[in-house]
Amino acid sequence: MTQTVLAIGAHIGDMDLTAGPTLAKLVLDGANATIVALTPGERGHPRLSPSEYKRQKIAEGEAFATAIGADFMVLDHSDGFLPDNDEVALELATIIREKQPDTLITHWKHSIHRDHEHAASLSERARFLAGLPMDPATETPAENAELVRKLADLPRHGVRTFLHAENWEDMEGFQPSLYVPIPDEAFYRWVSAIRHQAFARGETYGFRYIDYYTALMTTRGCLAAYPRACAFHTNATPEVTKLAGP
Ligand SMILES: [Zn+2]
Repeated sequence: MTQTVLAIGAHIGDMDLTAGPTLAKLVLDGANATIVALTPGERGHPRLSPSEYKRQKIAEGEAFATAIGADFMVLDHSDGFLPDNDEVALELATIIREKQPDTLITHWKHSIHRDHEHAASLSERARFLAGLPMDPATETPAENAELVRKLADLPRHGVRTFLHAENWEDMEGFQPSLYVPIPDEAFYRWVSAIRHQAFARGETYGFRYIDYYTALMTTRGCLAAYPRACAFHTNATPEVTKLAGP
């Protein structure tokens, strides 16, 4: 059966960096992968206006996803102001019911960036809502009625595997509990794809993202006894080990 994976990040580029090599590997293994950004990340450029950078970010996110063979979606929430509420969780739960992923990847729950913490919390809430039994004809909650009805019209879906990706901004209390080996083909596909993104190339605030995540894959690979690996936090179940592959 084809595996389906959904990676949910706060900003365009977050999951591309942290989950991207794993998504590239899973796509090469035959999986369907979708990257969802909850905001474009439009306030992340020191010189471009948010509206200018938003257009650029969306083009970069699409180019990255296409290059690794994933689908791409961006919701129109505001960078720096992502709310942690049921409205956004219901939007995400609808995407989960539409895509029916086996595996969901998001941020770790503690971060220096509040949007990242909210993305982790929203993803957990959306996973819960996507699996909740609902009556399509009679669901009439007081709040978010239209979103709840839209969700209730779709078949409920349980996400089996929930993973938190390793991100240099989200390290408080992060403990890896799953290592995914990244074969050379997936690594080189990721390296060429991530170069589509100006911030990853160091053109916004100068952080050496590509160097950092490349070195991290080598470090994690040492621990996993593989040339390269990505680390995740998960409440492991026996099924999770399937992600690691042969
Ligand atoms: Zn971010």
